[in-house]
Amino acid sequence: MHFITSWVLAFCSLALGRANDWGYPDWETDSTLSFPKWGGLCDSGTRQSPININAITSLKGEFDPLKLKNYDDPQSDLQMVNNGHSIQLSGFDDDLIVSGGGLLSDYVVEQVHFHWWSEHTINDIRYPLEMHIVHRNTIYPNMSMASEFKDGLLVIGVLFHASPTPNQGIEKIVEHLKDVKNASNINNAVSLKINKLAIMELLPNMDNYFTYAGSLTTPNCAEVVTWIVMSETRPVTFDQVKQFKEIEHEEGKQLTNNYRENQSLNDRAVVFVMGQKSGASGVTGSLALSLIVLVAGQKFL
Ligand SMILES: [Zn+2]
Repeated sequence: MHFITSWVLAFCSLALGRANDWGYPDWETDSTLSFPKWGGLCDSGTRQSPININAITSLKGEFDPLKLKNYDDPQSDLQMVNNGHSIQLSGFDDDLIVSGGGLLSDYVVEQVHFHWWSEHTINDIRYPLEMHIVHRNTIYPNMSMASEFKDGLLVIGVLFHASPTPNQGIEKIVEHLKDVKNASNINNAVSLKINKLAIMELLPNMDNYFTYAGSLTTPNCAEVVTWIVMSETRPVTFDQVKQFKEIEHEEGKQLTNNYRENQSLNDRAVVFVMGQKSGASGVTGSLALSLIVLVAGQKFL
């Protein structure tokens, strides 16, 4: 089992190695650099991500709550790598599965990774950090199959706002960044088994979120992603984010930022889903319901 996994990983790195000549402009050094063309669907697609989310003009929707299974399990041997484009976590003890909401299938977590400076912006505000929890639709047996179908992947995006108080969950990752940051350690995994992280520690309240149909934000930019971007943000300190920025990519240069520029919305809808449990939205929801009852009542008069 381990042999097969290692072999598959080695093959994937080899395959990626060949098509790995893509990257991000180092805007910290030169802010005038333009964003590179990544080719293929990344340039020609019409349902690309990330986007700017306009909270005012988004449609309003209501779904059953999202159901999360095993996200609160402290992971005993989570593997973290610097893959040259991000910091990525994988190797979960059990299947972490999300269902409910407007989802038609169950989606299982494949990996979690980060972008420093957020990819999605909300009302044109870019946050210091964004986490992507990449899920595969369980009706497909693996990522490459799932990447062929428009309902193949679900990514939950969580934005982090600047705070003076360190994020304890993020700290469990940050404390190991020094072990993977050098270019010579690219794709060499380290285990986060000392301070066991549960993915739930990194999540905000899950009642309210934006959802839209989009793409992977890295090549090949496949348009197979249902995006769920949480509207509530989590705290992170600038010092914690600074340590992500010290990660090296190939040639030993610092990966000072790894976010893709915003893509055109085109004719897509962004839906703001309001849960029924949260304070202000709950009131709005009840009010809306009362109005509907009132209107419905009038019909019978
Ligand atoms: Zn991402």
